[in-house]
Amino acid sequence: MTTESRYAPLFEPLQIGPVIAPNRFYQVPHCTGMGHALPQTLATMRGVKAEGGWGVVCTEYCSIHPSSDDHPYPFASNWDDGDTANLAAIADAVHAHGALAGIELWHGGSYVANLATRMPTLGVRSMPARSDPFQSQRMDRADIRRLKSWHRQAALRARDAGFDIIYVYPTHGYLVWEFLSRSLNDRTDEYGGSLANRARLFRELLEDTKDAVGDRCAVATRFSADGHGETHLSADEARDLLALFGSLPDLWDLVIEDYEEEMGSSRFVDAAAFESRVRGARALTGRPVVSIGRFTSPDTMLGQLTRGVLDLVGAARPSIADPFLPEKIRAGRVEDIRECIGCNICYAHDTRGSALRCTQNPTMGEEWRSGWHPERVPAGRGSVLIVGAGPAGLEAAHVLGKRGFTVALADRSDAPGGRVARESRLPGLAEWARVRDYRTGQIARMPNVDLYLGNLLTAADVSGFGADYVLLATGARWRRNGIGRWHAAAIGTLTGDVLTPDDIMDGARPQGRVVVFDDDNYYMGPVVALALARDGAQVCYATTESKAGEWSAHTAEQARTQRQLLDAGVEIVVAHALHAFDGSSAGFACIYTGRELWRAAAHLVLVTSREPEDALHDELLGRNGETDGSRIIRIGDCRQPAIIAAAVYSGHKAARELGGELHAVPAARERVVIAGPRRT
Ligand code: ADP
Ligand code: SF4
Repeated sequence: MTTESRYAPLFEPLQIGPVIAPNRFYQVPHCTGMGHALPQTLATMRGVKAEGGWGVVCTEYCSIHPSSDDHPYPFASNWDDGDTANLAAIADAVHAHGALAGIELWHGGSYVANLATRMPTLGVRSMPARSDPFQSQRMDRADIRRLKSWHRQAALRARDAGFDIIYVYPTHGYLVWEFLSRSLNDRTDEYGGSLANRARLFRELLEDTKDAVGDRCAVATRFSADGHGETHLSADEARDLLALFGSLPDLWDLVIEDYEEEMGSSRFVDAAAFESRVRGARALTGRPVVSIGRFTSPDTMLGQLTRGVLDLVGAARPSIADPFLPEKIRAGRVEDIRECIGCNICYAHDTRGSALRCTQNPTMGEEWRSGWHPERVPAGRGSVLIVGAGPAGLEAAHVLGKRGFTVALADRSDAPGGRVARESRLPGLAEWARVRDYRTGQIARMPNVDLYLGNLLTAADVSGFGADYVLLATGARWRRNGIGRWHAAAIGTLTGDVLTPDDIMDGARPQGRVVVFDDDNYYMGPVVALALARDGAQVCYATTESKAGEWSAHTAEQARTQRQLLDAGVEIVVAHALHAFDGSSAGFACIYTGRELWRAAAHLVLVTSREPEDALHDELLGRNGETDGSRIIRIGDCRQPAIIAAAVYSGHKAARELGGELHAVPAARERVVIAGPRRT
């Protein structure tokens, strides 16, 4: 073992009830958007984490019964033998690398709507679902008895599937959380009233699960260290439960009250931010404690153990961005860690009901269907010229360098990084520079990759270079004409100082009254508005949607985005589309009524859509693809302007497949195929 001795405590085994974790790296339960729908994709992905050294690898929320169905989100399920077989594939994949497999048993209570099963949902009382026009059925004693039996059966099936750690889950707004809530639980029986009564279901589930599987499996619980807010479960009550139920579970997996903070992006929440709230739980419970904090630094992780805060270092996002993080620490390769940037694109795709992906780790979710490994790439030979050192070009250079190609990477700019270098200078986005830093760090150590900065390449330069392959990664620029979702054609009535986010990133700081018109509706509009407000401008932020940065609800950032703008004194105008600007005022129309609204403004910033920088591509191949494009390939934003994760993925895919079979779609696909004779 080459572990630097100071990190050795991270690699000590730990007894958790009847099982032993091989080290202190614990992948806590996290959603994947795969769940019951993509079992092979999921099992392979979890197995890769175990291969990368995570000592414990858990599932996502795993429904115990059809009365808990979170459709259209692909939750995991443990309802019947078919599910048990699929779950066993996860446990097997994790065990193959010597790690423990954990499963988070879950009942959604009133929160879900059971859109797939159409069963009535169950609640401590009849309450509205998260967003659908359904209310739950109030549970009577017989319902509680049934629930306990479903939970027990699910625990037994999980044990039979091979899981080592089985969760009882009283947090995040689901069924057991409802019972704990002082304001929602209005029962007059032994499950309502005092804290002991409200916590009775929680306690009984812990005891039942221990009784059912405790000889073979550890029983864990995911618990909020600072309660669920004064109206539900106060911080003091949470402490009381930690002390009261301390040794009932074998492991306490601690989260915090505010999910948007727990899931906080780097724009709003720092790494290791929850320590003050989880410290002390070890002493109260006398059991091992794990908790999270977007830990990517080995020294921070180590500090959690040596200062006695945690016994196990929990991670979801850091394990997504780098499944091999523990192994890299063990092997003394700390500089090779691909650090999570806290962008929450992983979470966003689960909330979109699609499979997990990651900005930093383009192989995430592709382990099974594309056969991609986060650390290994196939060998290859040849020379490649890459034009553009943004996320797409850098990722391609990194992968091709690793494959053994001779790579020349050129950028007209004096610094690498393209859009991530530029965007990371905007408020709250500093961590995004890690997309550049990981890749420049890797290629700096590759003798077969040369980086040429300050080099604007023309079509003649590219042709004259004589490389076997050319990858064009020239990016995209924000449009200055208003074309976007709302306006299909350029707005003809724009005169005066019209700026774009590129101007702001280049340092423009208009003063006085500024209108920021957002028809992109993710982070760029709000971040630009904030940058200008902080520099003294009087900013009006106008959006075609009904909230500031509406899409960022998927990244758990929308509420904080809106609050941040309001706190910075930015006026927010919703549901209005810009239609005119003359250098002294901007005119909008209500998207519903067409009614006009005017704001005085000397400057206008348009955040609408981007124009691919594909002039080089067109010169080399002809605008309509007149020339064969198998040797000259467009990647990233110059092909399809999109999120940074898409540019990295595009660069990775092209680089991994170069010189071999180019897959337009991934090689494998998970879906149900009807077997047996056709019915006539
Ligand atoms: P992506 O997200 O697809 O990686 P970026 O916009 O981040 O795209 O990066 C594109 C990079 O390409 C920028 O750094 C830009 O300076 C560079 N670039 C664009 N055109 C040329 C060119 N003709 N020669 C060299 N570099 C170029
Ligand atoms: Fe981290 Fe972003 Fe990857 Fe999620 S998508 S793991 S937040 S880098």
